[in-house]
Amino acid sequence: MKMLKVLLQNLLKGPSTDPFPFGDTFTPKKLRARIRFDETACTGCRMCEHVCAGGAIRFQETPDGLKFTIWHNTCAFCGLCEHYCVPKAIKLTTDWHLSHKQEDKYAMTDIGTVALIRCIQCNKKIIPTSPQLNAVAYKGSNEMIEKLARMCPDCRRELSAKLLIKGVSV
Ligand code: SF4
Ligand code: SF4
Repeated sequence: MKMLKVLLQNLLKGPSTDPFPFGDTFTPKKLRARIRFDETACTGCRMCEHVCAGGAIRFQETPDGLKFTIWHNTCAFCGLCEHYCVPKAIKLTTDWHLSHKQEDKYAMTDIGTVALIRCIQCNKKIIPTSPQLNAVAYKGSNEMIEKLARMCPDCRRELSAKLLIKGVSV
C-alpha cells in the first residue's frame, strides 16, 4: 500500500531527472568547454601549442600566414592555453556540444590563419603585434605604438634604440 502511494506521487510529480537530450538542460557558468580562437588577436607566439599537453593545438607556417588548428577531440579542457595567452586570443567557452560519431573524430577541428603583413620598414613578411597585445602591454595605444606593431623585430629594435638615444619614450 505504501509503495502504491509512492508510485502515485511520482507519477503525478513527473520525472525529476534532467530531460537532456530530449529537452533543455543547464550549463554551469564556469564550465570549460569548446575552444574559441581569435586570429585577429593572436601574435603567433605559439605558447598555447607549447603548454598543451594533449597536443590539441598545432601551428603550421603557410604562405598566407600562421595556420592554427585545434583538434577538439583531444582537448582536455585544462585551460592552460587560455591562461598563458597574453592577448586572450584563445578562450574556453561554455559550449559543450562536442559529441560526435567515432568516424567524425578527425573532422572535430577549428582552423584559423594569423595573416602576415609586410614590415613597413624593410618589407619582410611578419606577423603583426595585435591591438589586443598592445592594450595589455602598453595599457593603450598611440601613433608610435601602431607603427612599431607593423615592424619586424629587427626594425623595431633599431627604431627603439634611436628613440632611446633621442630620449623619446613610446
Ligand atoms: S593563441 Fe595566444 S598563446 Fe597561442 S600563439 Fe596566439 S597569442 Fe600565442
Ligand atoms: S584547454 Fe588544455 S588540452 Fe585543451 S587546447 Fe587548451 S591547453 Fe590543450
